[in-house]
Amino acid sequence: MTTASTSPRPVIVWFRDDLRLSDNPALTDAMRRGAPVLAAYVFDEESPDVRPPGGASRWWLHHSLSALERGLAARGGRLAIFRGAGAETIVGLAKAADAACVVWNRRYGAAERQVDSAAKAALRSAGREAESFNAALLREPWEVKSRAGAPMKVFTPFWKAAQALGEPAAPTPAPARMPGLDGRWPGEIPLAALDLLPTRPDWAGGLRATWKPGEDGARERLSAFLDEDLRGYAARRDRPDLPGTSRLSPHLRFGEISPRQVWHAAHAAALSAERPPSSTDLTKFLAELGWREFSYHLLFHNPDLATRNYQPRFDAMPWRDDAAALEAWRRGRTGYPFVDAGMRQLWETGWMHNRTRMVAASFLIKHLLIDWRVGEAWFWDTLVDADPASNAASWQWVAGSGADAAPYYRIFNPVLQGEKLDPAGDYVRRFVPELADLPPDAIHRPWSAGPGLLAGIASKRGYPGPIVDHDAARARALAALAATREPD
Ligand code: FAD
Repeated sequence: MTTASTSPRPVIVWFRDDLRLSDNPALTDAMRRGAPVLAAYVFDEESPDVRPPGGASRWWLHHSLSALERGLAARGGRLAIFRGAGAETIVGLAKAADAACVVWNRRYGAAERQVDSAAKAALRSAGREAESFNAALLREPWEVKSRAGAPMKVFTPFWKAAQALGEPAAPTPAPARMPGLDGRWPGEIPLAALDLLPTRPDWAGGLRATWKPGEDGARERLSAFLDEDLRGYAARRDRPDLPGTSRLSPHLRFGEISPRQVWHAAHAAALSAERPPSSTDLTKFLAELGWREFSYHLLFHNPDLATRNYQPRFDAMPWRDDAAALEAWRRGRTGYPFVDAGMRQLWETGWMHNRTRMVAASFLIKHLLIDWRVGEAWFWDTLVDADPASNAASWQWVAGSGADAAPYYRIFNPVLQGEKLDPAGDYVRRFVPELADLPPDAIHRPWSAGPGLLAGIASKRGYPGPIVDHDAARARALAALAATREPD
């Protein structure tokens, strides 16, 4: 297909991690040009070092692309989908469409940046315009720096410096109409041909029951959070048994909503609500967006954040290979109910509460002494919000190997964490039904239940005893850390 020579040459909007029509600077720029807009998506598993999405992300991506297709169709447009190496495919499409210009929103992983620079160079050398924008972050990673102009390594000064740059720009609305071009382009395929959904077996029932991917779903989630849970957020955010957090993470990950939209909507809600949230609620919530920004800052300045210890001292950790323990952790069968509830929440819904992410990750790294990268890879495969920056930075944070990380020697006690943050045991009861009959004082330590109850759990319901003893595991973890110390 080619465009008629009399009509203006089209502008291609290359969608990637920005699957939305509102507050999308690349799209806004394309519309401003007044030329026909060609919306394109390239599923790229071919460019070197681009990390393929995990299973849960593939599921989300399918539905998010489907929602974007519907959003475009409602405005008279359509999404052209391709599979291939990102730069080559988009450069080929620009040639086929004789596009005057290609616009996109930036990505921050090293491999993706490589793809984007190659595309920009090839497009420009073919006489086309190529422009990129910031859609994913409140501030570009290079805008926030220390007084000396260096990358930041500690969260609090980072977030202070980011906020000192002023309010993020106000979000822009979605275009009312954006007629696309008729016909099909060479290499174009239907969404289903990307084969992103699980079939044999179809394990996505829990995901379907939990989430509504897409821009409308993101907007609804944000409104519900602002109406119901921003007030009280600071006090409730650590309680996995309560619906106290926004659950916006997968929507942010796929760019169905922008952090600018969330930032402005949270401020507006705080001003207009009848029963407004406290300033601590608002500050705390915005600081979580700040952690997301900090993770991207770290990724940008440390491209191998998912594979290399930020603190090289951890290269000497004597990690263990223990396939049986790893499998027990993955399946939520460690015998520690709070950890198991988190791991099963992940398996069932593709998401885990932040607090149980911390405790479950710590359990793998410290109680089982298994390399944090093994856990990072499991989360990458199973989280619907699996994020190249936040997942890597958070795993390194828990391991103690990261920037501004929790010290390694602070080892969570999964029993005490459960008793404190899931006091009635409702969270465990929901995800570990074998323990549903236990009273609150035994649910986080089933081994302390009376012999009758315990026998019932073990024999009839098959819940395992603890796979490691907490005190022994703690001592082993501390000894492992001591072994990494440089000799005096
Ligand atoms: P809210 O509390 O409502 O926070 C609002 C938003 O802020 C979130 O949607 C998220 O985008 C961001 N945010 C919150 N906490 C963090 C944080 N600690 N670091 C970075 N951003 C944050 N988050 C991901 O988005 N993707 C991941 O792959 C990911 N992996 C993690 C792995 C581990 C081991 C740990 C401990 C944390 C991980 N997190 C990750 C961070 C955090 O757990 C989730 O962002 C949060 O639980 C999402 O829930 P929410 O949207 O309800 O968060």
